[in-house]
Amino acid sequence: MAGVIVVFDFDKTIIDVDSDDWVIDGLGLTERFNELLHTMPWNCLMDKLLGELNEQGRTIEDIAACLKSIPLHPQIISAIKSAYSLGCDLRVVSDANMFYIETILKHHELFDYFSEINTNPSYVDDNGRLTIVPYHDFHTSVHGCALCPPNMCKGLIIDRIRDSTMKDSTAAKKFIYLGDGRGDYCPALKLDESDKVLPRKDYPLWNLIQKNPQLIRAEIHAWCNAAELEETLVQLIHANTSDSIAADCKSLSALPSHHEALVLHPLPVQQ
Ligand SMILES: [Mg+2]
Ligand SMILES: [Zn+2]
Repeated sequence: MAGVIVVFDFDKTIIDVDSDDWVIDGLGLTERFNELLHTMPWNCLMDKLLGELNEQGRTIEDIAACLKSIPLHPQIISAIKSAYSLGCDLRVVSDANMFYIETILKHHELFDYFSEINTNPSYVDDNGRLTIVPYHDFHTSVHGCALCPPNMCKGLIIDRIRDSTMKDSTAAKKFIYLGDGRGDYCPALKLDESDKVLPRKDYPLWNLIQKNPQLIRAEIHAWCNAAELEETLVQLIHANTSDSIAADCKSLSALPSHHEALVLHPLPVQQ
């Protein structure tokens, strides 16, 4: 393993559009959405609209077909495949929902590249209605983060990933975090000096970082489009790999010679 955990936001990062907007517009709910927009949290609104779709006789297959029509840029696909083949652990952290993300990633044969999808759970009930459940059940307890919506604090998810991967392995884990939205600011603040944050240029995360860049400890690398995302991501993974080879060589020279055979393991990464 390259010792790198690559965390992708989903909407406007992996896909260029917002999957909620795409379904709303694609299935004729734009007006209804505008009516209800400021009356409830986003996550609850999406669930309510899915209930109305079901009442109108729209099926789960209609929603899936709409999601499969979302274009996915070929350079995002190659970025994901390259990061995976370079030994990174890929994860999604998204405020969309499991049905949307799973449908889209499976449609593009990308689902198995990710070790974990952190998002709002969803299920289809007996009437064929897709239901979205908040990631954090804010009716029973609050997550206490003022930066994030009530249903999901992505920063807490980063904390959990860091804790769980530290327990699993003694190898240092570094994060590369890619995102665009307001909800990606809290996790960006949680990253440390050895991590990287890749905000989409001129989107809310980038704007928030620009206001106060000294609050971010991670290295910042902005990207504008899929080509830049791919190029930056692959370069950073390669740079990290060279750093770890350098660190390995240092530790090697510090060891007595009879230990060398233990340290000279084959490296999984081609450059
Ligand atoms: Mg996003
Ligand atoms: Zn938060």
